Amino acid sequence: MVQGTIVKVSGPLVIAKGMRNANMFDVVRVSEQRLIGEIIEIHEDRASIQVYEETAGLGPGEPVYSTGEPLSVELGPGLIGTIFDGIQRPLETIRNMVGSNITRGIEVPSLDREKKWRFLPVVGPGTHVTGGDIIGKVEETPVVEHRIMVPPGISGVIEDIYTGEFTITETVAKIKKDNGEVVDIAMMQKWPVRRGRPYREKLAPEAPLVTGQRVIDTLFPIAKGGVAAVPGPFGSGKTVVQHQLAKWADADIVVYIGAGERGNEMTDVLTEFPELKDPRTGESLMNRTVLIANTSDMPVAARESSIYTGITIAEYFRDMGYNVALMADSTSRWAEALREMSGRLEEMPGEEGYPAYLGSRLAQFYERAGRVICIGSDGREGTLTAIGAVSPPGGDLSEPVTQATLRIVKVFWGLDADLAYRRHFPAINWLRSYSLYLDRLDAWIAANIARDWVDLRSDTMRLLQEESELQEIVRLVGVDALSASDRLTLEAARSIREDFLHQNAFHDVDTYTSLKKQYRLLKLILSFYYKGREALEKGADMEKLFALPVREQIGRAKYVAEKEVDSVYAAIEKELDRQVESLISREVDADA
Ligand code: ADP
Repeated sequence: MVQGTIVKVSGPLVIAKGMRNANMFDVVRVSEQRLIGEIIEIHEDRASIQVYEETAGLGPGEPVYSTGEPLSVELGPGLIGTIFDGIQRPLETIRNMVGSNITRGIEVPSLDREKKWRFLPVVGPGTHVTGGDIIGKVEETPVVEHRIMVPPGISGVIEDIYTGEFTITETVAKIKKDNGEVVDIAMMQKWPVRRGRPYREKLAPEAPLVTGQRVIDTLFPIAKGGVAAVPGPFGSGKTVVQHQLAKWADADIVVYIGAGERGNEMTDVLTEFPELKDPRTGESLMNRTVLIANTSDMPVAARESSIYTGITIAEYFRDMGYNVALMADSTSRWAEALREMSGRLEEMPGEEGYPAYLGSRLAQFYERAGRVICIGSDGREGTLTAIGAVSPPGGDLSEPVTQATLRIVKVFWGLDADLAYRRHFPAINWLRSYSLYLDRLDAWIAANIARDWVDLRSDTMRLLQEESELQEIVRLVGVDALSASDRLTLEAARSIREDFLHQNAFHDVDTYTSLKKQYRLLKLILSFYYKGREALEKGADMEKLFALPVREQIGRAKYVAEKEVDSVYAAIEKELDRQVESLISREVDADA
């Protein structure tokens, strides 16, 4: 245990001397109060320490103890449903111990040491195992089976394995390594947060992360293992979008990192999230969720570590072969923490004071997402999807954090304050958003949903783009100057916006739409356009076409329950056919 002495304190940054034997990224305890810090720079015997707790009152001459270990997380049963802070301290346990203000220097294990879990082995003695192999399981919650894996780097033959109730530190198996050494395996393992957990191979994403949100799944889908960014100007519906994703995304595990937007926002997440119900099981959403929350009484530096703590936990569940979705809200707060530390370290500032390495740090974070073949001998796959919220000040997307993020992520959901103001929700701007996974996912969609999905989507995007151009003309010369076919384009685009893209998160049926229904609904909406075009060509009256009674049924089609979609939509299609036909034949009669 290296011991140094504080020479300088500057907010969350502490400089200590006598630290020659310490390592970069070692965790240290600062002063007799034992505040938790991490070494982020070493020059000769001077270490720069990022302290994760309030440093007020510290001064030169006080001691610094190195633990000789990097900042690590504890991984094992007990993660799910727990709310941790940025350095994985269990907030509830702490609150029960010392009240709502975290006492400085408090030492609490991240995972409960007393609780017993029922461990069921899935391999027997004599089996050869390597790192990543699943040796047993624990029913952690009603919906999550926690798979106990051999820690990376260990391989050998199972000498003994036990069934029964164990704490996470008790031995559940003994492995005899190839060199004859016997290691005790417990359910808990540790992993340094700044190092990505190993996998065997990275694969290109191929399946969508289905969110049930139509504008996302149909127009700007994200792949399982993909990376997305969503900027959230105040009031643009960011919280609702994130809740919808947490509720509906078809992920096995959700890791939600909240870095605290406004003063008390974190308390919102702390109280709101546990109350959310999983709409499919009716159980608390916390049964598949790990929540990382930086409370407002923690200094900014803790936001820095929360991102790493979160993604390491997410990787661990990915390693079990799960589809994990990680949401970070917001990466801007994290970047601000980087900026603050960089400033105190007197590094050369880059754009707007952010350090020059902002882009590479962001990239390192998002790179830990992906679809992988896990380590272990069964070749199972796992995915980690990362969705980062950014909060550009004043909604200005040209600021450095947004720009650096956009260079990395493949999906961008541009939340738009104007749309929100017009109460178009989700306020994802269809002209500015994009998904670079479309090509990859098209094959999956064609095989699993419908072959003509791609055509429907291209027509949809084309209509929306034409609408925005036509709107310019309308502004200049009025709608009457447009041709009938342009007027139809406007009508069709409006219907796409109102009857498809607009989705009410608070409506029982509308809140979630399966991919099948999204396809059927879009097809129904577009068939008005296709048939309308035909009718206009055959001389049908435009106003009468736009006023067809069936259009109201199309407008309500999104509220049709999933199981009635087939029959009801077929009936609407038929009615549309009939009404358009009769319109055309009336014109023909009139001509005759
Ligand atoms: P932000 O977090 O960006 O400040 P919120 O997510 O709290 O904004 O959204 C603000 C309000 O907008 C919500 O209270 C809700 O009334 C409305 N809203 C946002 N998204 C939707 C949606 N998908 N469906 C219905 N209403 C929505």
